[in-house]
Amino acid sequence: MRGLLTLVVVVAGCMGATASLAAAATPATPATPSTPATQPTINEKCQRLADTWRQRFDAERVTYIVAPPFVVAGDGGQQRLTRYLDHTIRASADALHRKFFDRARPSEPVLILLFESAESYKRLAKKWLGDDPSTPYGYFRRDNIMVMNVGTGTGTLVHELVHALIRPDFPGVPEWFNEGLGSLFEQCTLADGDIRGLENWRLPALQRAIRDKKLRPLGEMIEDGEFYGDKHVGLNYAQARYLLMYLQEQGKLAEYYQKLRADQAEDKSGLKTLEAVIGPKSLAEFEHGWRSWVLELKIQR
Ligand SMILES: [Zn+2]
Repeated sequence: MRGLLTLVVVVAGCMGATASLAAAATPATPATPSTPATQPTINEKCQRLADTWRQRFDAERVTYIVAPPFVVAGDGGQQRLTRYLDHTIRASADALHRKFFDRARPSEPVLILLFESAESYKRLAKKWLGDDPSTPYGYFRRDNIMVMNVGTGTGTLVHELVHALIRPDFPGVPEWFNEGLGSLFEQCTLADGDIRGLENWRLPALQRAIRDKKLRPLGEMIEDGEFYGDKHVGLNYAQARYLLMYLQEQGKLAEYYQKLRADQAEDKSGLKTLEAVIGPKSLAEFEHGWRSWVLELKIQR
C-alpha cells in the first residue's frame, strides 16, 4: 500500500490531499431507478455505457468503475483505479466545477480509459477505437472518450478533463483559452477544494522565445483563429498557459472565465474581455508586466 501511495504521488501531475475517499464509487453501481417515460439519467447512461464495454474490458483484464458522469476503466487493477478516481479525477473535477464550470455539467457520460503502459495504450486505442495516437500522453475524442497513457503521469489526464468538463459549460470557448486552461492544470495543487496551476515543462521554451524576441504579442495569439496551425502551435500552448497563470496569480482567472462565457456573442476571441478584466491597465502595459513575470519564473522541483 505504501509503495502504491508513493508511486501515485510521483506520477501525479496534480497532487492534493482529498478527504473524500469515502465517496469512492463501488464497481458497477446500479443506476438510480427513474420514473418511466423520462429521459435516461446520467447514472443510467453511464451504466448502459459500461454494459456495452464490459466484454471488451473483461477480455483485456481491464476493470472499471461507474462514477457518473464518468465511467473510468483501466488495466492497473481496481485499487489503483479507485485512487485515480478519487485523487485526480473527482478531486480536480470538483474543484473545476466550483471555481469555473458552474453553469452546466456533462449530460452524456465521459469514458476515461487509463492505460499503465505505452504498449496497452497504443494497442487498445487501435483495437477498440481504430486510433493511432499522435501523442504518447493521451487525448480526448469528440465522442467523449478520453484515452490516457497514465504511465507518463496524470498531468495530461487533468488537461483532458478540463476539455471534457468545459464542453457543456461553455460550448463556444475559444480554442486558445480551452488549451491554456487544460495546460495550466497539467501541474497543479488541489488543496481545500481549490485548484491552482504551477510552473511546468512548457516554461523554458516560452522564456527563450521572449528573450530572443520571437514571441508574438498576446493579442495576436488570442485573435489568431488557427491555434493549432503548424507555425505557432508549440508556443501557443505555453503562451496561453502562462497568460492564464498570470491571471490566476492576480486572482482574476475565474472572473475572466465567467465574463468570457457571458460575453461570447460580442467577443468571440476573448480579447476585449481580457482588456476589461485587466483595466485600467492597457494591454501593452499588461503584456510588459506579463513578460517580465514569465522571465522570473522557475520550475519548482
Ligand atoms: Zn488540449
